[in-house]
Amino acid sequence: MKLILLGAAGSGKGTLAKKITQDFGIPQISTGDILREIAKSGTELGEKVGSFQKQGILVPDEITFEVLKQRLKQKDCKNGYILDGYPRTLNQAKMLDKFTKVDVVIKVDLPFDELERRLVSRRQCAKCGDIDNINYPGYTGKCRKCGEKLFQRNDDKPEAIKVRLEAYKNNITPLVSFYGDKVFNVSSVGSPDETYAPVKAFLKKLEAKN
Ligand code: AMP
Repeated sequence: MKLILLGAAGSGKGTLAKKITQDFGIPQISTGDILREIAKSGTELGEKVGSFQKQGILVPDEITFEVLKQRLKQKDCKNGYILDGYPRTLNQAKMLDKFTKVDVVIKVDLPFDELERRLVSRRQCAKCGDIDNINYPGYTGKCRKCGEKLFQRNDDKPEAIKVRLEAYKNNITPLVSFYGDKVFNVSSVGSPDETYAPVKAFLKKLEAKN
């Protein structure tokens, strides 16, 4: 099964992807994570990527798609994958469509004021990448999984959040039109489990059909 998760930054795509990975055994491919690793590499490319990411600006399509293609050629992707954060533009969707056809596009919806609220209070573990939020019960500033200190991503600061959400607003309508009836909508206003329930039911049905 090849899935795409569409949704603004902070909508809960990553959390949803992890749940799908657990139940359906397909890897989560986050272009944001891959690009963050490249940004840390100390290379010229890494510096370029890092400067885009810091400001919340999209990394150029040629770089992002090349990086994604290399990742999708790896063995663990042979039975499918969940694309988390790709495509972000119609052009990226067209590039992907020439490379492979996806089965389903899950669109995660959350009102913009709530997205902003969740993003400014979001924190991440530098070691394992786990996401937490200063407003969640039991938050200590340390990772719940590995105990490492949590930090605020540069692009989770107000200026970069504005840029990221604006880009999402401008790109989502053409993407939804491009994928047409492959799109399955889900709201993430509730808890992660409430968000996941209809998605799981839908994917189970799809799995049974194939
Ligand atoms: P994310 O972790 O998905 O929020 O992505 C963080 C940042 O990585 C984005 O703000 C972009 O700078 C970059 N990025 C991730 N995915 C893409 C993509 N599909 N196209 C361009 N830039 C991307």
